[in-house]
Amino acid sequence: MPFSLSPDRAQAAKEFAAAFVPGQRVCLTTHVNPDGDGLGSEAGLAHLLKARNIDVVVTNPTPTPPRFGFLFDDLPGVDRTAEAIKELRRADLIVVLDIADLGRLGMLGETVRSRGVPVACIDHHVGTGVLPEGPRYLDSDAAATGELVFELAIGNGWRVDQSVARGLYVAILTDTGGFRFSNTRPRTLRVAAELLEAGVDPEDIYTEVYARAPEGRPRLFAEALQTLVVEPDYGLAWVTVPPGAIERLGVSSDDLDGVVEFPRSIEGVRMALLFREVSQGRVKVSLRSIGPVDVASFAKRFGGGGHTKAAGLALTGSLAEVQATVLTAAREYLGLDGDRDSAHG
Ligand code: 5GP
Ligand code: MN
Repeated sequence: MPFSLSPDRAQAAKEFAAAFVPGQRVCLTTHVNPDGDGLGSEAGLAHLLKARNIDVVVTNPTPTPPRFGFLFDDLPGVDRTAEAIKELRRADLIVVLDIADLGRLGMLGETVRSRGVPVACIDHHVGTGVLPEGPRYLDSDAAATGELVFELAIGNGWRVDQSVARGLYVAILTDTGGFRFSNTRPRTLRVAAELLEAGVDPEDIYTEVYARAPEGRPRLFAEALQTLVVEPDYGLAWVTVPPGAIERLGVSSDDLDGVVEFPRSIEGVRMALLFREVSQGRVKVSLRSIGPVDVASFAKRFGGGGHTKAAGLALTGSLAEVQATVLTAAREYLGLDGDRDSAHG
């Protein structure tokens, strides 16, 4: 069965696209520490909008990690993240991708909140946060925001050329962990197939995203994995980034992508965590689950969020304090889940 869009979704795609008017200046933005889905969706949408004579720029709260820089090679001058606030002040429309909450826009949140222009949103997270009024294209069943950008293109009859397809393929590849995670639906693979047919070379993309690492990336993995703690009784496992390791190894937090899959991969583990001090007194926690454990609702208790099986949160406190708080809550949460014994039976 080839990819097709239901009449309802096609209608929603058309209604969303009515916000785009030729000649308009549009800013695309995504969450702090942008990932392959946020950036790939932006690159794909930027190509689609440029083809409709829309003046489009990308204005993210934090810089593009080096391994995703290639997405903007054929969009000269479009990644205006260094001048984000200035660009947002000139925008007629702001499009927020891969989040639905001002709180995840970092230092851009206040400008986006107070600009007084429509704020459109394309997102696949569970639940929505606070955003100014504007059109929405949301589906928490989508594997990636890139899948939704593809739907927008199809629903509006916009041509998905090789440049568009490359961004959207990166989005889907990275948010499904290379088509391994539970969010990989038949529909996801149908979209991916369409993107390959549009000319994406999967090996090229794999090389850019995963196989041009700085030497520091595997060294960072090695240091983080040394800290592994496993509590088989709870089905809990976690790793911690040694403070200062990222700076010392000359890498960025993006280079931690995938490290939490190692504690998650241990037999019997139901919840895996990665702790990282992002600044003095501020700790970020990545959460992953296997089976029925819902880490998005766990993260929400601490002001975080995400998806059922991949979520995150950030708390104020020392590394030791945040670990104590989150791990105590996690043990209780897993205990309450009621199937602790069966996980090891
Ligand atoms: P990661 O652990 O890879 O940074 O993020 C996993 C998922 O959780 C992503 O969908 C991401 O958007 C979400 N997430 C990560 N950190 C936070 C956070 O601090 N707040 C919220 N609301 N979601 C987060
Ligand atoms: Mn995403």
